[in-house]
This record gives sequence, C-alpha cells and structure tokens, in this order.
Amino acid sequence: MLPALKVAGLTALTTIDFPGQLAAVVFCQGCPWRCPYCHNPNLLPNTGSDSLPWQQVTSFMNDRRGLLDGIVFSGGEPTSQTALLQAILEMKQLGFSVGLHTAGPYPDRLSKVLAHLDWIALDIKAPFDSYDKITGALHSGEKAKQSALLILESGLPYEFRTTVHPNLIDERSLLILARNLQQMGVENFALQDFRPTSALPKVEEPLSAHVIKAIGAMFPQFLVR
Ligand code: SF4
Repeated sequence: MLPALKVAGLTALTTIDFPGQLAAVVFCQGCPWRCPYCHNPNLLPNTGSDSLPWQQVTSFMNDRRGLLDGIVFSGGEPTSQTALLQAILEMKQLGFSVGLHTAGPYPDRLSKVLAHLDWIALDIKAPFDSYDKITGALHSGEKAKQSALLILESGLPYEFRTTVHPNLIDERSLLILARNLQQMGVENFALQDFRPTSALPKVEEPLSAHVIKAIGAMFPQFLVR
C-alpha cells in the first residue's frame, strides 16, 4: 500500500486561495528549501509533530460535497511527497476542483500531477540564476525554471507570484525577474508583500511606484497584494 499524504493541517473554508472557488486548504508536510520568509517553518521537516491523518481529510471532504467547490494543496511543498498524486486523484473522484500551491522544486513530480489539476500557483523567489541565496538550496533556480516552463506548456490556468522583501530581492532584481517571466510568456503575475516573521521582521521600504508600474506593464494580468 502506498504511503498516505502527510498533512499538517486543514483550513475548512477559503475564498481567496483558489480563484473563483469555495475551497478547503490542505497544508502538506515537508519542503526541501529554507526561505528566510517562510511562514510555515513547522511544515518544513518531512515529519511534523502535529499531523492530521489523510483519512480525516477525505472524510471531511466527503461531508463537504455540494458545499465546497474545491480543495487546494498547499504547504510546505506539496510536491515533496510522492503521495500527492493519489491524494489529488481521490479529491477528483469526489468531484472537487483541485488547486496546487508550489515553488516548483520537483519538476518531474509536478509533471505527473499537472494533468489532474484545475489551477496552479507558482512561487517565484528571484531571478532564476540567483535563487540559491533565498532557498538555501543549490540549483533551486534550475528546478523552478523547469517547473515554470512545464506549467506554461500545460495550458493550465495559473498565477506566478513573488514575495517581496527588500533585504532578499532588490528592485533591480525584481525587474530582471519580471523581464525573465515576460520573455517566457507569463501572462499572470502577482507581487505579494512580505509578512513579517520572528526571524525576518518588517522593513519599512515599500516598492517604488515606478517599479510597480514598469512590472505591471509587462503582464496582461498583474496585481499587488
Ligand atoms: S519554498 Fe515555500 S514552504 Fe518551502 S521554505 Fe520556501 S516559503 Fe517555505
């Protein structure tokens, strides 16, 4: 029997994490990267102290048929578990739309689940050649770029999104990153304000209006949140 998806928690209802859908969010355990602004550091080890049996998630979703539209797999990094594919298929069998939040560290695994998804959000950390200083992982930019290309080739609805903290990505790098994405054919891009953590406090240095305007002009769909 295949191992079940390791889940650290469940949000019963969200209206903002899966566009146009009333959805639940499943927080998957494990991530190979170590971004300083990570908001869920307890989810990074492969095994967590608080876990929710996958069976409870399926039971919960079974009871929500007709009440929820979909489910989003978030994390942590959902693709760090090979059990993700089976979990997605089970949710599709129950009739739910399925969304995925990923940073793209496992393009091979991503390629296996893409055909079963209805929407995907890809975190873009930095220009692809300077990923490692944010993720702490060698060659992470190459993996993320492969994942980005797979998503674009799949034709799946998507959002690419970048979290902005001035100590981790300056305006020049942000413009390079946006230009990289534009050249790849990305049409839907969002900038997200960094949310302070105890490890990385708030910095009062908002993005310049002209940088936001320049980036916004590169994409048919663009937002700052
Ligand atoms: S990729 Fe996402 S989950 Fe993993 S460390 Fe970075 S922010 Fe956290």
